[in-house]
Amino acid sequence: MLNIILFGPPGAGKGTQSAFLVEHFGLVHLSTGDIFRANIKGETELGKLAQSYMDQGKLVPDDVTISMLESEVDNHPTAKGFIFDGFPRTTAQADALDAFLNGRNAPIACMLALDVDEDELKARLLARAETSGRPDDANPTVIQKRIDVYNAETAPVAGHYAEQGKYTGVDGIGTIEEITERLCAAVPSE
Ligand code: AMP
Repeated sequence: MLNIILFGPPGAGKGTQSAFLVEHFGLVHLSTGDIFRANIKGETELGKLAQSYMDQGKLVPDDVTISMLESEVDNHPTAKGFIFDGFPRTTAQADALDAFLNGRNAPIACMLALDVDEDELKARLLARAETSGRPDDANPTVIQKRIDVYNAETAPVAGHYAEQGKYTGVDGIGTIEEITERLCAAVPSE
């Protein structure tokens, strides 16, 4: 199994780059944001709960997010591995993910962290709002909140994987192809 965490602030390019990594390494892409948005579209109970947090740029509570993620992993028993995009976003989520994957003898291989400065993130998110239809991309106050939440709650997750020797920072500025090459080169060979 090759389990990769693609990490970085909102607008860093995780979704875009996941598509290439999935193709290159034959992995399953799990984006918690995408799963929440599918639940909102499907008007499920989970979607209703998640929407109130997402609209404000806050994190959906850990217990709900962790159990959703774990059942998604279990829904893909034949996967060669996963790209986790947007998860874990808190140290509690990281602890839960490690325990869950270690219990399946399939630990995280690496965390690849896209590094993009804050001005560029804001510009990218506002540009993405033109086509994404995401209300949380279109509102500068919500964008700032998402970046603040990232800095306060999510950034410490990098230290969690750095302590395990699994963290690699990758320059997230450049063409899509350049960044894909940097990411592929940073994946440890099995
Ligand atoms: P994203 O698509 O990754 O930008 O996520 C959009 C929104 O979904 C976030 O602002 C959060 O409200 C929620 N979300 C996504 N992933 C998580 C997570 N791992 N933990 C808590 N909330 C999440």
